[in-house]
Amino acid sequence: MKKVVKFGGSSLASAKQFKKVKDIIVSDKARRYVVPSAPGKRNDKDEKVTDLLYQCYEAASTGAPYGKILDKIKNRYGEIIEGLELNLNLEFEFAKIEEQFLAKAGKDYAASRGEYLNGLVMAEYLGYEFIDAAEVVFFDENGVFDAEATNKELGERLEHVERAVIPGFYGSTHSGTIKTFSRGGSDVTGSIVAKAIHADMYENWTDVSGFLVADPRIIKDPEVIETITYRELRELAYMGASVLHEDAIFPVRKEGIPINIRNTNKPKDKGTLIVESTCRKPKFTITGIAGKKGFCSINVEKAMMNSEVGFGRKVLQVFEDYGISFEHMPSGIDTMTIFVHQSEFEEYEQSVIAGIHRAVNPDFVEMESDLALIAVVGRGMRATRGTAGRIFSALAHARVNVKMIDQGSSELNIIIGVKNADFEEAIKAIYDIFVSIEL
Ligand code: ASP
Repeated sequence: MKKVVKFGGSSLASAKQFKKVKDIIVSDKARRYVVPSAPGKRNDKDEKVTDLLYQCYEAASTGAPYGKILDKIKNRYGEIIEGLELNLNLEFEFAKIEEQFLAKAGKDYAASRGEYLNGLVMAEYLGYEFIDAAEVVFFDENGVFDAEATNKELGERLEHVERAVIPGFYGSTHSGTIKTFSRGGSDVTGSIVAKAIHADMYENWTDVSGFLVADPRIIKDPEVIETITYRELRELAYMGASVLHEDAIFPVRKEGIPINIRNTNKPKDKGTLIVESTCRKPKFTITGIAGKKGFCSINVEKAMMNSEVGFGRKVLQVFEDYGISFEHMPSGIDTMTIFVHQSEFEEYEQSVIAGIHRAVNPDFVEMESDLALIAVVGRGMRATRGTAGRIFSALAHARVNVKMIDQGSSELNIIIGVKNADFEEAIKAIYDIFVSIEL
């Protein structure tokens, strides 16, 4: 059994957290490959080392004073090393980093040092081999991740290494320039390593006990999702539920390797298991609810629209011409409505309306702003009668007016459009009818 374990920044923010991490690793022999993030925040007011590195580089590379920020970074590692009583001196590493900053080695190089140094500390603390991600994770010259070269190199390198620490978040181009993934990218490294070694499990350790059925800022102490499929996760993540970097899904998904989201501060909690498919019945009819505010709808009306071939295409072409992507497109016989992100649309609003007039000569075009979309997601909905009925009666009881309904043919989700002002109330009503009642 082989497991890849990735630990997020808050799991490695201090010596105390490192100790918890070591306990977790040594308690299961299968936890052989460790992917650390950079030290994160120790409390709400604290700063992430990655952010400090960006700031420090910005100052150093523009000739501004940077000594104080660099000292802050040194102190973060110093405290961890001292707290763990390690015989490790990073002075040489810091001298090299400073030199590279002054030589303008690049923002990505700067940010990557958080993971690099934490990897050195972690490898020393565990007694595991350290493998610099720059030697095994590759990007092409345009900065696009090179999955094939990485998989080959990582697979070969780790084949004969029993236990190793591979820092997350970065790699290098074939010519040796350091590149990072986007923020939160250590999740991606973990997934890539899991794929390369054909892991049985990719454990992603963070500071929450898994994905929650709903946003805890709206629902107090929501239930944790025990098992979720990649498709369900994608729907929820798209609608704003975030725990895992989106790109972390693809490498393991293809290999059928499950991801287990776990909580470093509550290691006994089982967390959420993310799988390709499962026979396990979800605990509730729905798996999760997520949503976003800030949409706008454009309603186009024209008598006999339904018999006009190409009508929809011509309308959508106008949005495409302005680079605006649409979210949903419910339609009636003589109407079609396009939902777009308000922030993307506002700038082009009048041009788009004019464009629609020119393209299809509608009877009228109407707009409504400040709308929210809520996705109710669940593989269990497919087999259950009356799910939509329950959602809408719950919303009616909560006095929420439904502006739009869209059920994908997968029956995996129902999307509901409401006014921004009704957003929280609507989510509460849906949570209550499916989760509180079914508990
Ligand atoms: N340290 C990086 C960040 O803060 C990457 C990561 O933590 O995954 O975004």
